[in-house]
Amino acid sequence: MTKRKKRTTSELIEEPLKIPIDMGKAQRISISRLEKDIIELGKIGRREDGGIYRMAFSDADIEARRWLIEKGESVGLRASMDPAANVFLLDDRSKTNSSFMIGSHLDSVPCGGMIDGTLGVLVALECMRVIRENDIELSENLELVATSDEEGRFGGMLGSQAICGELSMDFIRRAKDVNEVSLIDAMKKHNLNAINVLKAKRHREYLSGFLELHIEQGPVLEKTKCDIGIVEDISGLFKWKVKLIGEANHSGTTPMNMRRDSFQGLAEFAHEIPRLLEENGSEYARATIGKVDLFPGNPHTVPGVTEFTIVGRDFDDEHMQEIENACRKTISAICRRRGLMFEFEELSRLSPTACDQRMVSLIEGEAQKLNLKYMRMKSGAGHDAQIFGRHIPSGMIFIPSLNGVSHSPEEWSSLEHIEMGANLLLRSILRSLAPHVL
Ligand SMILES: [Zn+2]
Repeated sequence: MTKRKKRTTSELIEEPLKIPIDMGKAQRISISRLEKDIIELGKIGRREDGGIYRMAFSDADIEARRWLIEKGESVGLRASMDPAANVFLLDDRSKTNSSFMIGSHLDSVPCGGMIDGTLGVLVALECMRVIRENDIELSENLELVATSDEEGRFGGMLGSQAICGELSMDFIRRAKDVNEVSLIDAMKKHNLNAINVLKAKRHREYLSGFLELHIEQGPVLEKTKCDIGIVEDISGLFKWKVKLIGEANHSGTTPMNMRRDSFQGLAEFAHEIPRLLEENGSEYARATIGKVDLFPGNPHTVPGVTEFTIVGRDFDDEHMQEIENACRKTISAICRRRGLMFEFEELSRLSPTACDQRMVSLIEGEAQKLNLKYMRMKSGAGHDAQIFGRHIPSGMIFIPSLNGVSHSPEEWSSLEHIEMGANLLLRSILRSLAPHVL
């Protein structure tokens, strides 16, 4: 409630007190209602270890999508699912042709947490509920999107790429998960035809922007005691599988200078990574060797073959390309010197994306009005906003992750931060589509 100024009796007679309109209500989300949704949805796909198993096109993933459709319909939103299993909840009272989109993803990694992706979907739902309850007129349709396979069972960002028309028939036909289950079969199980995924494309003329709230999934906000992160850039990423091929041999009888030890090649390359990033990447460049397999994998045998993955990240395409080139050259030089051969396969590549500057400033303005402690920041993790951002103005709001943990049952954010983030999203939507109520 707005505090009323004390008035003298004479003033009251001269000018009757106007009842102030309580604008505050329209600008606030209900944290208790949001919490209830988080707990309810958090039961879908949860297993005994406390982790969420809502991998793309699993039974739990589809159940969560149905849950959301029912929720949306119950508050009068028009619900639909496209051929890529993206769920949309539409508030089309404005009767415009185009939509402003808000949301995130509903799928999870195996043994993931309750709020990665989910929170962005539920906060968007809560914002839409508040807007409808208060009958706020919007200048454009508002549309919630809950994307499919953001987490990468079949490569990642499937839903947002489908909407943006970035997928090819070739990709759909070849896409497989780590257990060799094809996208086609996984979708068929739910009566979905993967070939139709290409039909999920929406013309960019009919989409005016995308705004996503997400947990930070890292320690920066918590360490700097900030309530909110406003994302300026989202990191690009390349993922390679590399095979170094030498010769397996007896570890006792083969002299050190007569070996073609593939693991020694990897060790030398791994050692070169910090220098390679320093010379070729930006100050934010990162590279990780996260998985290594040695063959034959016997303690008494010189490893003839070493297979490893490398994931490189940076925030502009030029640096990304330079890092990729430097990796190739370094591996090639090491192999030449050590008598090894090498093969490499690019498993995926996402270009870096900058968030829309106007959207960044708009969110920043609202964060200031809400008196939030915020910082502009970079996102080292990939998100749907990275795909949408290549086609339409996109923005992202981060809230702190407890202890910086994500992709784990321990993943959580305080209700206080969730509420701050949700109110900031609501105000940012209103600033874009209904500035008259602010
Ligand atoms: Zn996520």
